[in-house]
Amino acid sequence: LVSRMRAFGTTIFAEMSALAVQTGSINLGQGFPDSDGPAAMLDRAMDAIAGGGNQYPPGPGVPDLRQAVSAHRATHYGLVYDPNGEVLVTVGATEAIAASVLALCEPGDEVIAFEPYYDSYAASIALAGARLAGVTLRPVEGRFTFDPDELRAAVTPRTRAILVNSPHNPTGTVFTRDELAVIAELCQEHGIIAITDEVYEHLTFDGVEHIPLATFPGMRERTVMISSAGKTFSVTGWKTGWVCAPRPLVTAVQTVKQFLTFTASGPWQFAVAYGLRHEMGWVAAMRAGLQDKRDRLMKGLALAGFRVLKPAGTYFVQTDIRPLGFTDGLELTRKLPSLAGVVAIPTQVFYEHPERGAHFVRFAFCKQYEVIDEAVGRLKRLG
Ligand code: PMP
Ligand code: GLN
Repeated sequence: LVSRMRAFGTTIFAEMSALAVQTGSINLGQGFPDSDGPAAMLDRAMDAIAGGGNQYPPGPGVPDLRQAVSAHRATHYGLVYDPNGEVLVTVGATEAIAASVLALCEPGDEVIAFEPYYDSYAASIALAGARLAGVTLRPVEGRFTFDPDELRAAVTPRTRAILVNSPHNPTGTVFTRDELAVIAELCQEHGIIAITDEVYEHLTFDGVEHIPLATFPGMRERTVMISSAGKTFSVTGWKTGWVCAPRPLVTAVQTVKQFLTFTASGPWQFAVAYGLRHEMGWVAAMRAGLQDKRDRLMKGLALAGFRVLKPAGTYFVQTDIRPLGFTDGLELTRKLPSLAGVVAIPTQVFYEHPERGAHFVRFAFCKQYEVIDEAVGRLKRLG
């Protein structure tokens, strides 16, 4: 393994999901729902296979999906992207992130990311030979946020890009207009490109709305906007994502993407195009159900003795494990299957400075009520 990848090993999601299978534990670790996406959309994928949609799609993606993504951006956010040249279909958001970083960052460039961050960011930045500059999100009155001065201090003459994930995994924070304005201002002042990971764009709660950074004045032209179908339609295994950006940025990302995978799998693309056009009502109902599940899990975790931080979006709740007498989340999550028959994710693995997240553990609530109830019942053994 090349030296720049040696620090990475196996992802925490693979490790913890394998542990759940081995020990027969309830898996509230890796974020994937345990119910399927809209039935008519699943049928479209089967129709596409039966109807011969099984050969290479065009490199930038099936035209119908590019048009549906473009229409979705216009309807929801008032953002206009030309489906021919400003939309690129990728193998999930993960490929979109990797291809964007590889396409836009020179070796030695710096990329700012808020820690804790989704694990592929650090690996993509390392693959590019760039350097990750972490800005720490810390709980303020129970909500993870950043200090604008710390963010400003992270900018150097080598800063090329900032990775912005909102709604944010793993903290559940949805950045406010004011927080995004600080980022937008900095990008423009220093000529920084924003790479936005918006995979949880529709999974926000309590009336909180997701605001894309690209909607800020002057930001569309310098933002690579990324999303995917996995979370919106509960089809995380379909790995169908997309990039929306001005033509020169999409061209750059596509230049890399074509040699990573050339094109993304076909049948899902037809189905996701259908979903974006016809299933946003299903998405709204799913989001309401998810909010109930969040509340159910939060209540149960609090009864089990965790300090629970309320997320405004995503699939995840952060807990502080210290009230239960634990201090190291990695140690606790490795023991949790034998202690309680539950798997969770140690938040510290998403930090440049693991000690800053040592006492946090992430639980996923994108599960059936019975599963959540059974898990919290088991977790009461900890107290
Ligand atoms: N970004 C974030 C913040 C995620 O949580 C995930 C995984 N769910 C991804 C990107 C990857 O998305 P995809 O499965 O579409 O590659
Ligand atoms: N995004 C999912 C999570 O945070 C996991 C994706 C993965 O397994 N790489 O749980």
